Amino acid sequence: MAGDALTHDLAALVGGEHVLAGDTADYVADSTRTMGLVGRADAVVLPGSADEAAAVVAWCYERGVAIVPRGGGTGFSGGATPVHGGVVVSTERLDRVRSFDPLLWRMQVEAGVRTATVHRLARENGLCFPVDPGASETSRIGGNVATNAGGPHTFKYGVMRAWVSGVEAVLAPGELLSVGGPARKDVAGYDLTGLLCGSEGTLGLITAVWLKLMPAPPVALPVCGFFADAEAGVAAIEALLGSGVVPAAVEYLDAGALRAAGSTFPGGMPAGAGFLVIAEADGSEDEADELAEAIGPDARRPDPGELWRWRGGVSLAVIAQRGGKLSDDIAVPLDRLAEAIEGTVEIGARHGLEACSWGHAGDGNVHATFLLAPDDEDEVRRAEAAAQDAFALAVALGGTVSAEHGLGWLKRGQLRRQWAPAAVAAHRAIKVALDPRGLFNPGKKEP
Ligand SMILES: Cc1cc2nc3c(=O)[nH]c(=O)nc-3n(C[C@H](O)[C@H](O)[C@H](O)COP(=O)(O)OP(=O)(O)OC[C@H]3O[C@@H](n4cnc5c(N)ncnc54)[C@H](O)[C@@H]3O)c2cc1C
Repeated sequence: MAGDALTHDLAALVGGEHVLAGDTADYVADSTRTMGLVGRADAVVLPGSADEAAAVVAWCYERGVAIVPRGGGTGFSGGATPVHGGVVVSTERLDRVRSFDPLLWRMQVEAGVRTATVHRLARENGLCFPVDPGASETSRIGGNVATNAGGPHTFKYGVMRAWVSGVEAVLAPGELLSVGGPARKDVAGYDLTGLLCGSEGTLGLITAVWLKLMPAPPVALPVCGFFADAEAGVAAIEALLGSGVVPAAVEYLDAGALRAAGSTFPGGMPAGAGFLVIAEADGSEDEADELAEAIGPDARRPDPGELWRWRGGVSLAVIAQRGGKLSDDIAVPLDRLAEAIEGTVEIGARHGLEACSWGHAGDGNVHATFLLAPDDEDEVRRAEAAAQDAFALAVALGGTVSAEHGLGWLKRGQLRRQWAPAAVAAHRAIKVALDPRGLFNPGKKEP
């Protein structure tokens, strides 16, 4: 369809000022821009209500136009990047808090509400929404649900799916429907709510969600320890878990990540440190004492605000090394964590790239990272080859190619590495059943 006609028709649905040109810079890439991935859409549409969103999807579906859902564009796998054209549907105007019942620990929000807004509202009312992905000021709840996001506190509290009791979404060919709701449990049908969590825009457009909340934990007491290397650090993590305390978070940085970010660690970093373990107790001082005992005599107790602000800046500090990075989100069973961390550095060396990792150690989640200059095509190609080796390593160690960011565009097709053909076929059958024309985010996830 010619661009003018497309723009004209979409403008009739959402208003002319809410249809933008398909090459509008803010909508053609996500965080993978740092490795040079930029797409181009036929148009960008900003619906202002769930009904408008349904009308846009119905219009696209009838005409065979691809739909690329977009939240905050912070994704790390190119999921929101319009690599095959089509219409980017940005949820930024779906930003209403539809209901908030602090005494019942629940909230219904539209997909475009920022993650940080949910955190703030919960906090101001003595509650907590424990899913805390790193780019919360920019990411949106719909994007968090679509990627089934996690964060440091996922170790104790689980990923997004655990906190979503209902989803409103537009499915093909443009039907607005709800599954689940304010009830905290619902096992009546197949778990369609769960299916949409982690669907990465390939099954439908999420317009609103019911979120569960919980009373804010009484304390936040991080305990940190520096170690000589990954082996010593992972041994301390195993001792931590053996202590019987359930830490709210267990994080790590390896030597390379410390070289990039360690100089600004609150209170300074000791000379010769090659590995950092961060654990947090959120129940009591006694719990924090037990974590400190497991970490050893040099355990430190940084201020939680300072520590988590610093931790939130690690990714940017790593990017600053060479201007770009390719960062994966593999996960392995905890007893194979040291091998995954050391293996990442070895893979980088094999491809002539500096490599490092950090991540959510308690979940075995390793951000296997290869540093690159985004305008150096050879380096980008070598980083992509290194990432393939990191996926193979994760699967060989009994883990997964993605524990956090989803497959998106960068990891499309990688499910075949870890699932048997019959399981991949079942995955495909779900896609075909819900999106028979293949118009929701084509080319992404398991194309
Ligand atoms: C500094 C930094 C730190 C990060 N830390 C973490 C972390 O700790 N844990 C973590 O899990 N991730 C992390 N991320 C990755 C990213 O923030 C998450 O994946 C986040 O959930 C993406 O949300 P978004 O709104 O930005 O989604 P987008 O990037 O806009 O989209 C992500 C995917 O979801 C789809 N999508 C978006 N909205 C909808 C919708 N309404 N309906 C259907 N599909 C939709 C898109 O099509 C795309 O496939 C980090 C990113 C950055 C930049």
